[in-house]
Amino acid sequence: MTDTYAQLVKKGPAKRLARKLGLPQPAALRRYEPGQPLVTGPVLVQGSSSGADDLAAALLGWDLDVRRHAVPREKLAAIILGLDAVSRPEDLETPVLAAAASLRDLAPGGRVITISRPALDAESPAAAAARQAVDGLLRSLAKELRAGATGNGILLAGAAAPASPGALAALQFLLSGRSAFVDGQFLTVGAGDAVPTGNVDKPLAGKTAVVTGAARGIGAAIARTLHRDGATLVLVDVPAAGDHLAAVANEVRGTALQLDISTEDAGRRIISHALQRHGSLDIMVHNAGITRDKLLANMDHARWSSVININIAAQLRINDAVLADDRLATAPRIVSVSSTSGIAGNRGQTNYAASKAGVIGMVRATAPLAAAKGGAVNAVAPGFIETDMTARIPFAVREVARRLNSLQQGGLPVDVAETIAFLASDAAGGINGEVVRVCGQNLVGA
Ligand code: NAD
Repeated sequence: MTDTYAQLVKKGPAKRLARKLGLPQPAALRRYEPGQPLVTGPVLVQGSSSGADDLAAALLGWDLDVRRHAVPREKLAAIILGLDAVSRPEDLETPVLAAAASLRDLAPGGRVITISRPALDAESPAAAAARQAVDGLLRSLAKELRAGATGNGILLAGAAAPASPGALAALQFLLSGRSAFVDGQFLTVGAGDAVPTGNVDKPLAGKTAVVTGAARGIGAAIARTLHRDGATLVLVDVPAAGDHLAAVANEVRGTALQLDISTEDAGRRIISHALQRHGSLDIMVHNAGITRDKLLANMDHARWSSVININIAAQLRINDAVLADDRLATAPRIVSVSSTSGIAGNRGQTNYAASKAGVIGMVRATAPLAAAKGGAVNAVAPGFIETDMTARIPFAVREVARRLNSLQQGGLPVDVAETIAFLASDAAGGINGEVVRVCGQNLVGA
C-alpha cells in the first residue's frame, strides 16, 4: 500500500514544514535492478590489518574505485571499516575516528560496513570486549546515518578472513541495492564453502525453488525475485487462493501446487511435485504464515493452535521430510520467514511471536543437520512490510509502526525477497543457522 506521508514530505511546502518541525523525512531507497552497478562512486577501505589490504585488492578486482585513504570532500559510495584485528577496546579508536572523519562525505543511499570477529570466538576477555564493542558501535552508527544510507556488519567466524569467499559474498550483498531495507544488522560468515556466483544477474540459474504462501504479498514477491535470479519455481498455497496462485505461477513460468502446508504429508507432496515436474529441489522457502491476534487473556484454542501449526509445526515437519528423503542427493538451502515480533515480542501476538521465535530456534538447531547433507538453514525476520497483512492495522498504529525504524518507512515485499534470494544462493554458502532482520533497524525492542 502507498505511504502517502512519505510522498507528501518529498517536496514543496510540506517538505519545508516537516524539516522545520523535525518530522520524519523518509528517503527513497536505492533498490536493486538487473544491470545496476554494485555501487556508484568510490569505496573507502579503512583499517590497517592485512585483511583490509586483501579486501581492498579483492574490491579492485570487482572494478570498484577503491580508496585506502580519504580524499577531502570526495563523495563516497561506501566506507568499509576493517576491525578484524582488534584485540583490546583501545585498538578501536584510530580506525573508528578515521572513518568518522569521512562520514559527512557518505553519499545518499551509501553504505558503512564493519568487518570484525564474533566475541564468542575471542581468546581473552579484552579481545571479547573489543569485538563486542563493534556491536554497540555499528548499531549506534546505523541510527545516525541519514538519506537512506545504512550500516551493517560482517562477523568472520572461525578461520574466515575479510577476503574469504563467504565474506566477499556478504559484502557484495550489503553493498548492493538488494539490501536496501537491511540496517543495523550483522551477518556471520564462516570460512565455509561459499561458491562465488558465476552468473551475477542469474545467480539461481539451474535451481528449483519451492515457495510456500506464494499467492500474494511477500510470497509472491519472493517468487518474482527468485524467478528474476534464474530459479525454476514451485509455488504452494491453500486451495482457496488457487486463482491468485495460478496467476503468479503463470507470471513466473512456474508450477502451482494447491496444498495446505499444515497437512501431515505436505513435505512428501512438495518433494514429489518438485522432483516429478522439475527433477530437483534445491531451495525451500517457508513463507506461508498467519496471524490470529488476541491478548493472551482472551486467547482460545483455535487461535493458538492454528498459528503454531501453520507458522512453525508445518515447517518442522516439512524440514524433517526434506532432510530424510533419499531421493534428494543433497539437502536444499532452506530459508524461513520469521518476524521481528519473534525477537522483540508484540502486544496481542503471543501466539504469533511464539511461533516466529520458534522458527529461530528451529533454524539454529537444524543448521548442523542440514550442513551434514550439504544444505543450510537460515531465516529472515521482517519488520514492518507494506502488505495486505499490515494494511489491516488501524491507521494511527500503522503510521507509528511504519516510522519506528532508522529508515523511517515500511519495507517492501521485495526487500524481504532480496535477502531470501541471497541466502538461497550458493554465494551464501558460508552462512548457516543465521537470522537476518529486514526491518530498517526497528527502534523498539529488537
Ligand atoms: P499474507 O497474509 O499476505 O500472505 C500469506 C500467504 O500464505 C497467503 O497467500 C496465504 O493463503 C498463505 N497461507 C496461509 N496459510 C497457509 C497454509 N496453511 N498453507 C499454504 N499457504 C498458506 O502475508 P504476508 O504479509 O505476505 O506475510 C508472509 C510471511 O511474512 C508470513 O510468514 C508473515 O508472518 C511474515 N511476516 C510479515 C510481515 C509483514 O509486515 N507483512 C512482517 C513480519 C513477518
